[in-house]
Amino acid sequence: MRHLLVVGLLLLTPQPAQYDLLLRNGRIVDGTGSPWYRGDVAIARDAIAAIAPSIDAPATRTIDVHGQVIAPGFIDIHTHARRGIFKVPTADNYVRQGVTTLMEGPDGSSPLPLAPFLAELEALQKTPNIGLFVGQGSVREAVIGTTNRAATPEEIQKELALVEQAMKDGAFGLSTGLFYVPGTFTPTEEVIELARVAGRYGGMHESHQRDEASKLIDSVKETIRIGEEGHLPTHISHAKAMGVANWGKSEEMLRLVDEARARGVDVTLDQYPYTASSTSVAAALMPAWLLEGGNQQALARLKDPATRAKAKLEVIDRIKNERGGGDPKNVQFASCGFDPSLNGKTLADATHRRDMMETVENAAETAMWIVEKGGCSGIFHAISEDDIGRILKHPATMIGSDGEVPIFGQANPHPRSYGTFARVLGVYVREKHVLTLEDAIRKMTAFPAARLRLTDRGVLRPGMKADIAVFDPATVRDKATYDNPHQYAEGFSTVIVNGKVVFENGAMTRERPGRVLYGPGRR
Ligand SMILES: [Zn+2]
Repeated sequence: MRHLLVVGLLLLTPQPAQYDLLLRNGRIVDGTGSPWYRGDVAIARDAIAAIAPSIDAPATRTIDVHGQVIAPGFIDIHTHARRGIFKVPTADNYVRQGVTTLMEGPDGSSPLPLAPFLAELEALQKTPNIGLFVGQGSVREAVIGTTNRAATPEEIQKELALVEQAMKDGAFGLSTGLFYVPGTFTPTEEVIELARVAGRYGGMHESHQRDEASKLIDSVKETIRIGEEGHLPTHISHAKAMGVANWGKSEEMLRLVDEARARGVDVTLDQYPYTASSTSVAAALMPAWLLEGGNQQALARLKDPATRAKAKLEVIDRIKNERGGGDPKNVQFASCGFDPSLNGKTLADATHRRDMMETVENAAETAMWIVEKGGCSGIFHAISEDDIGRILKHPATMIGSDGEVPIFGQANPHPRSYGTFARVLGVYVREKHVLTLEDAIRKMTAFPAARLRLTDRGVLRPGMKADIAVFDPATVRDKATYDNPHQYAEGFSTVIVNGKVVFENGAMTRERPGRVLYGPGRR
């Protein structure tokens, strides 16, 4: 009798859950590029505990995903998230398209030193994981400022020390922005010296190349050389060919990448799937010599009629042949602090508003006027769809948004911040068949994870951290457009970060499980 009572109590006592979360009936795309298979994924604490055709063990919570894709959470290797992550620590625009890890410090620009900023990020209750690169431009600016000259041997020693400290603090590598001031004033040899230090700590080099337009091919050679002579993995950020005259150069770029890889140089690329880029109007359309030494000096130069005339010729050339896309209508304003009514309008509109004919010459005048007024960020429609497809298909290309964390509804940011990953899946996988689903997921997960030497993320496998995106491949799509960018992507049903559900039923949850990730020099 006593025996039966015990057995009865045991039966009545709920069994302790073996798992915290169980995803059932998924189409598992594991990140490696292997074909999908049907299965369940069980999560315990912050990690994947089991994957099997059917898991019946008790779980605190079970979600039936009804045949949707279960993929690793996406890793965005190139973002400008630090502008917005402290205002919008949920990073809704990214999480709602399956992104669970953001990499910051790109294009040669990072906080410096890194440690205090990493501490701020640690203290922030945030949804996605975040990691940092150290920016070569920031390092150079700290030591030399923004003047155009070679570094002295003493200055190079100071730069090396800054890079070394950043790698010890947890940077994933060195980013360069050789297109921007002051990166553009750096000789390749100086970059190589700094890259060697990053490489010694297990880091990589990534570059916003010196020129993405007429001198694109020379710049690709330079990026490869930095990896080859710096003895570290090297990477072309947001690979593209800007300006009609340069369309098609992606073919030569990828040939150089293949040749380099064949001789043992570890070079890779990332890309966003849009025919427009985004940066400041000053960086895009003004010559670097005009901007040398900072804003006050640029304004002084523009006041001198002869210097202004010289600059204008170069601005005209950039509108005609480079980021201007051949037409002032192809330059759109994202955010203009001095006149928000210009947000979303074009350089042609702004020229018209100043009572001038919309010629390229007048547009160049307007562009210089905008710099004098305090500047705008812009969207530059100057990339060909053919180049996008060709670069996207290349096996060494991964996906990176180059986006930011916008404040919903504010300004007119490039739609890439809201749509990059969903757009690849909707347009380039489902509609255009440029990539298979499995290959697209690989480019968003296992590939960037391997690049960053993140050995515990990017693949669905027991023991890996449970960063997971669940979506319907038949409905996934980006909605953000150039004229109406503040629209979240659709098709994602559940997003999980470090084992916690952060997005479901069309809404962000209250969980903030995001972690700061550290590079190999600190690990
Ligand atoms: Zn860039």
